Amino acid sequence: MTGQRRIIARVLSEASDHPDVEQVYRRAAAIDAKISIATVYRTVRLLEEANIITRHDFGDGRARYEEADEHHHDHLIDIKTGEVIEFQNARIETLQEEIARELGFQLVGHRLELFGTRVDGASARRKKS
Ligand SMILES: [Zn+2]
Repeated sequence: MTGQRRIIARVLSEASDHPDVEQVYRRAAAIDAKISIATVYRTVRLLEEANIITRHDFGDGRARYEEADEHHHDHLIDIKTGEVIEFQNARIETLQEEIARELGFQLVGHRLELFGTRVDGASARRKKS
């Protein structure tokens, strides 16, 4: 891996949010101004193909990335603010296993994105953008 690719990989691994390519580019360019957006696009694609990062579509037309996580989680997206909240729910996990089993499958993975608007007075427990 070249120095530039290493920087881009580090930016993604240190991100605590779900950056798009533009955001990854700005963070990487702050470390090495010679990094181009084309290099970021290429590297992100390579990292995705190698399953080092995961691509998400949160409904705003921008691909977002996060490090492929050993701790599985799902996402709730606030469609007004774009805020992304991560959650885990044991009942959903179990239910998905049951659905797969009933259909004759062994589950190897899933993606779940919930889209909503915040109800007045509700407070977020975990925030990520
Ligand atoms: Zn996430």
